[in-house]
Amino acid sequence: MLSDAPLPSVPPHVLGAIYAHARETYPDECCGFLIAPQGSPVIDEARPCVNEQNRYHARDPERFPRTAREAYYLGGKDLRFLLESVSGERPVKIIYHSHPDVGAYFSAEDTRAALGREPDDNAEPLYPVDHIVIDAQSDHVAEAKLFRWDDGQRSFMHVDTYAGERSAPSQ
Ligand SMILES: [Zn+2]
Repeated sequence: MLSDAPLPSVPPHVLGAIYAHARETYPDECCGFLIAPQGSPVIDEARPCVNEQNRYHARDPERFPRTAREAYYLGGKDLRFLLESVSGERPVKIIYHSHPDVGAYFSAEDTRAALGREPDDNAEPLYPVDHIVIDAQSDHVAEAKLFRWDDGQRSFMHVDTYAGERSAPSQ
């Protein structure tokens, strides 16, 4: 079953910040963390992370066949921040990333990344966080979706949707 923790609440200014990040890195994926005060479901900070996928792909294309166009990879510094935050005053509640042009779904690759392995009967998420996937198009963000791990289904379920932004006005 789904965790009974309240769904995080993501205010418009935080959505605006992560949509801007997705536009900035387009056509590559962006990634980052959303943070709330301990015990609160209300996100009050977006912390962009560095997508290290291209660096790892260049170094070891066999192990990292994808580029940042279709994957994200959190580096050691960002992962340390995430791990340390979880027990602190301002935990990371959500990992966000964008999907350039392909829609806001939780991919098989996203599931493997969140579990740190192939999904099977014993797999558990590596981090106690929800996930936002942003649908980034060339001239606007279409929408974003929130996904949460479901213990019974052994998969990430779509639990909330956020409206996107209008296309940039044409000249
Ligand atoms: Zn993804």
